[in-house]
Amino acid sequence: MPLLVIKWNLMRRNDFLRLLTLAGAGLATPSFAQNGPNTIEGESEVNPHFINSGPGFGNRLALTFDDGPTPGVTERVLADLSKYNLHATFFLIGSKVDASPALTRRIVEEGHDVANHTYNHPRLAGMSDNAVDQQLSKTQEAIIRATGVTPVWFRPPYGAFRREQGSIAAKLGLGVAYWSVDPKDWSQPGASAIASRVLSASQPGSIILLHDLHSQTADAVPAIFSGLIERAFTPAPFHSFVGAPYA
Ligand SMILES: [Zn+2]
Repeated sequence: MPLLVIKWNLMRRNDFLRLLTLAGAGLATPSFAQNGPNTIEGESEVNPHFINSGPGFGNRLALTFDDGPTPGVTERVLADLSKYNLHATFFLIGSKVDASPALTRRIVEEGHDVANHTYNHPRLAGMSDNAVDQQLSKTQEAIIRATGVTPVWFRPPYGAFRREQGSIAAKLGLGVAYWSVDPKDWSQPGASAIASRVLSASQPGSIILLHDLHSQTADAVPAIFSGLIERAFTPAPFHSFVGAPYA
């Protein structure tokens, strides 16, 4: 089948990987390695403004919560952060910010960082530049409207983002933040599994991915917070952990 072979050779690596991803898209939620995001869509290719961990010296790490604000769950996470005197970074969905502006404002008022996680959580890797820009811009506007804060970090849903799409984020002043510890709390494996996965994988410089989306994560945070403190980690929000990408 010479034609097939020629096409195969001409196919760019990324296009091939994307085809693989599309072929598998219906199978399951994305499966991430314990210590890094899935690389199948090329999202971990080198880009100076993509990060998946912070400084490894000292004992700091970052707690991040995606997919909120979620009434009924985010309040519980905030209460435990306050109880343990910790600060986190919340990667917010713009449409949920518009639905719960007071809860969004409370996140900022309690000293946490807010960041951009798109307007309605699409897979950006397959979208046009204009559509990606709309997802990011609308979310910036929603967060600014609710809190007065302009986010400087963005996290692509599912980690699905192409290297060249980084310039769209950069034009909006957004660095692209991945993660290094993924307990897969979105699959609801149980609060004790979530906590033990986080505690066994955390190390200095880790960026821990959690979701203020399901009650299991809220159930897990007291054990996560007390366990990190016992291990002498200092959880810090992005502004003091990795700073701003374009400052
Ligand atoms: Zn998400």
